[in-house]
Amino acid sequence: MVQTLNTFLESNLNELKDNGLYNEIDIVEGANGAEITIGGKQYINLSSNNYLGLATNEDLKKAAKDAIDSHGVGAGAVRTINGTLDLHKELEETLAQFKGTESAIAYQSGFNCNMAAISAVMNKHDAILSDELNHASIIDGCRLSKAKIIRVNHSDMEDLRNKAKEAVESGQYNKVMYITDGVFSMDGDVAKLPEIVEIAEEFGLITYVDDAHGSGVMGKGAGTVKHFGLQDKIDFQIGTLSKAIGVVGGYVAGTKDLIDWLKVASRPFLFSTSLAPGDTKAITESVKKLMASTELHDKLWDNANYLKEGLKAKGFDIGHSETPITPVIIGEEKKAQTFSKRLMDEGVYAKAIVFPTVPRGTGRVRNMPTAAHTKEQLDKAIDIYEKIGKELGLI
Ligand SMILES: *Cc1c(COP(=O)(O)O)cnc(C)c1O
Repeated sequence: MVQTLNTFLESNLNELKDNGLYNEIDIVEGANGAEITIGGKQYINLSSNNYLGLATNEDLKKAAKDAIDSHGVGAGAVRTINGTLDLHKELEETLAQFKGTESAIAYQSGFNCNMAAISAVMNKHDAILSDELNHASIIDGCRLSKAKIIRVNHSDMEDLRNKAKEAVESGQYNKVMYITDGVFSMDGDVAKLPEIVEIAEEFGLITYVDDAHGSGVMGKGAGTVKHFGLQDKIDFQIGTLSKAIGVVGGYVAGTKDLIDWLKVASRPFLFSTSLAPGDTKAITESVKKLMASTELHDKLWDNANYLKEGLKAKGFDIGHSETPITPVIIGEEKKAQTFSKRLMDEGVYAKAIVFPTVPRGTGRVRNMPTAAHTKEQLDKAIDIYEKIGKELGLI
């Protein structure tokens, strides 16, 4: 290895390790279900995004296997050469129906979606107003577009209004867009979409909502935009197919013209091989399931409310989440990490989240209940929480 690279890697890795910031990745032995096995030990799993338990659903598994039998394991090409299979067409029609839009386009991941869609529409003559807590893939997608990026204080509608006014009245930009997560993943709060739409209409902003944590969870399963009945008012509805949907991939839903443009102008669509047949069919099956019944959605919310009430009754500070995402706010960073470690010792897998991911002094353990958990599992988790909470003087 050349010396310059060697020095770079060694010094950066050592710095992380010296500061206790080097992340050792846990290997899950088997499925990422309500319980997981790591290093031969079983844990109640409160860390997955598998909200509806669909990652291990028997119907989805069968759909994937059948599609592998009929179409193989790979799509064989990028979408624009001959990697668009009938399965992709069926998926995109189903996604448009699910989101209540004219059309939809599927990508290989939610991350890819933000890389693809923002820079296909925005360029250096434009400005993007972006909520300061937006996901990393939105931040990277904005940078790739070369548009002027204007950070907006988190869910602060007055700040949005002022900055939108300033950007539009400056006359410097051809187009101005506002981008927000639908559901924010660290606190579980929901974007104020009705006010956002009002401001967007006043100033002529393009609206872009990444609902990765909202689909399957909000709006009876159809997402945060549907929750507020704003399908006709939001220009870009983005999401992932890897969280509640349970598989992998991402999508944009919008007007036919928007999707037609993304199919000719978005680079991950043009230059990266499409979703594999098994995944594609499993996703379609998953979305159809969500449209047919709210059973899993209802179970998720029932479990989420049960866990929240249980933790609150024990005296924990669970923040102000409006979704199943359940943070237990600990405060000091080290203490949050110790708390998470002790939970693991006792058989609960829930990760500490600390500065810089969340503000200093608001270190927390984040819990993700799912439809797949049983009340017994949640009761056991709450009891373990109580034990550690007392041990660390938190309750
Ligand atoms: C998780 C997430 C993504 C990434 O989705 P993947 O399909 O896992 O790549 C994008 N945006 C937001 C807001 C997310 O929470």
